[in-house]
Amino acid sequence: MEKSVRKIGLLGGMSWESTQLYYKLINQGVNRHLGGLHSAEIVLYSVDFARVEKLQRMSKWEEAGQMLAKAALALESAGADCVLICTNTMHKVAEQVASSIDIPLLHIADAVSEVLLRENVKKVGLLGTAFTMEQDFYRRYIQDKYGITLVVPSAPDREIVHSVIYEELCKGRIKDSSRVEYLRIIRSLSGQGVESVILGCTEIGLLVSQEDIEIPLLDTTQIHANKAVDFALDDL
Ligand code: GLU
Repeated sequence: MEKSVRKIGLLGGMSWESTQLYYKLINQGVNRHLGGLHSAEIVLYSVDFARVEKLQRMSKWEEAGQMLAKAALALESAGADCVLICTNTMHKVAEQVASSIDIPLLHIADAVSEVLLRENVKKVGLLGTAFTMEQDFYRRYIQDKYGITLVVPSAPDREIVHSVIYEELCKGRIKDSSRVEYLRIIRSLSGQGVESVILGCTEIGLLVSQEDIEIPLLDTTQIHANKAVDFALDDL
């Protein structure tokens, strides 16, 4: 009997602008390995981002965690063999989600750290939402588990990065002026001795790409999607 790929569960919609990238990248990745008409087996639960963003703003993380845990359970019931939370920020509630399901949660920070370890990077810059850049759940996770130092932009620059994500990228608006700002901020991080910069928000790849700048960039969307592809093909 022909062996089949494992089913990927995507917890998306945060925002849907980046979820469509996951969908495409995972299908492309599986097709690259299997060829022909092969594509990935994906179960998608896409939430209403306005609800999530409101809970973030009100610091109602427990409630947001419950919402995502319920969605993850639905993915499991629908036959998913793993779950990916398609946003860096909502990994704030990763433990709550992981403990509510019996299938593995592929953590985005593990995926990016594995790449950093492979490339022997010890000090890396981080761009993302204010939650991701300023709170412990992401930076400390990588620092404590992998011994990698993370450097974030100055407070005014963090504000720029954050507001471009919510006011533009999550609404599908891609502006040249914002790209210029992001590239300036990435350069200022490289001036602080980082070897590469994590694009720690799944929409940033819509704005900035490796062709725009000489400093190595780690796009978490691409890296997380690669992790899903490896998982999908693992049994074959
Ligand atoms: N997709 C973004 C991230 O990777 C931001 C949207 C959100 O707050 O989830 O952090």
